[in-house]
Amino acid sequence: MNKIMKKSAILFLTFLTFILIIYSLCSVIKIVYAKNSNVIYIDPGHGGFDGGASSKDKEVIEKDLVLDISLKLEFYLEQMGYKTLLTRDKDTALAHTKKEDMHKRLKLINDNNTLLYVSIHANSYPDKRVRGSQCFYDNSLEENKLLASYISEMLKTINPYNNRKEKSITGKYLINNSDKVGCLIEVGFLSNQEEVSLFKTKNYQEKLAYGIFLGILKYLGHNGDSMSRNNKNNLQLNSVRLAIPTPTDMERLGWLIESICYPKIVFAMNGNLGAGKTTLTKGLGKALGIKRTINSPTFTIMKVYEGKMPLYHLDVYRIENSDTDFELEEYFDLDGISVVEWADNIKDLLPENTIYLTFTILEDGVRRVDFVSSDTEFIDKLNNIAGEYIC
Ligand code: ADP
Ligand code: MG
Repeated sequence: MNKIMKKSAILFLTFLTFILIIYSLCSVIKIVYAKNSNVIYIDPGHGGFDGGASSKDKEVIEKDLVLDISLKLEFYLEQMGYKTLLTRDKDTALAHTKKEDMHKRLKLINDNNTLLYVSIHANSYPDKRVRGSQCFYDNSLEENKLLASYISEMLKTINPYNNRKEKSITGKYLINNSDKVGCLIEVGFLSNQEEVSLFKTKNYQEKLAYGIFLGILKYLGHNGDSMSRNNKNNLQLNSVRLAIPTPTDMERLGWLIESICYPKIVFAMNGNLGAGKTTLTKGLGKALGIKRTINSPTFTIMKVYEGKMPLYHLDVYRIENSDTDFELEEYFDLDGISVVEWADNIKDLLPENTIYLTFTILEDGVRRVDFVSSDTEFIDKLNNIAGEYIC
């Protein structure tokens, strides 16, 4: 009897150990899996044969509007080093039937290393007065609500009168069946005339994309989850958006910024030709006491100006990310200020605390400059010194 009991005890212990090993293996696999989750998936709703909703004048079709916004969002995220994928990047459906199309979107989001996803749509409603963006989420994951609430909060800055709160929803195939963190964003109502007029402007589309972008950043920051950023760890991103009315103001902004610069600071500038990148650099140069004229070193790629601190002015318009011959990153390690125009071309070479500036020419000639960085102190100081330009 004793022997049998002993045997059973040994068997039981072996079984318990086995279970424990399996359990720990599962957690290890889970951790490894989570660490590999680094993709932000953007799902522009509809596409191809499926246009979605449209405005009364048929000038704005949901599938086109949400694709434009999605591509802008992709640009912002990629510029910050996030690996971003789209379920579609042109006007196509993913299959011949709506049902199959939705299956494919879900599969893409669920099967890849998706850290989070956003599905972007535009709404329509019989009551034409109804307007405003709204986020919807599946309440099976607490994180879904959090993401939706941050995106709502950031979108609200575009339209403070929009009182639509994030809402849990059922009956939405994609979000109700995905096992990844995500939400569905209705950017507004195609049945509302004023909102349709806004949707027609690139400026408003940019604003919507930027609002969603900031919501995602806030969610990732809150989560302490920066795994999705390439090669960079534990980064919390912060941003300031400025509106610069004239070239003189742009120079002045450069001048103001000098006071908060430190050795080895890197400014990575992106934005179209004539957006004001060099003008800002000129102001910075003046504050550094540089007498020589500063202009874009498009052909020389790099110019050094001696001032209070050396200014390394790079224009990498003609360089590609893969071009390693120039060893440009060495400048970022010297005790000076580096300014890189068209920095996206060398985004893989930029150091961790880079200050990213995106210049956008608005319809009235005003330049919008978005500063984004993990350097919280710099962004805080910028908030103080450039307060008059904040928008
Ligand atoms: P980039 O280096 O981005 O190609 P530049 O700074 O060389 O652009 O040129 C910007 C041009 O736009 C200048 O001719 C400037 O006079 C003009 N401009 C008009 N409005 C503004 C503004 N608000 N801020 C900066 N530049 C402006
Ligand atoms: Mg230039």
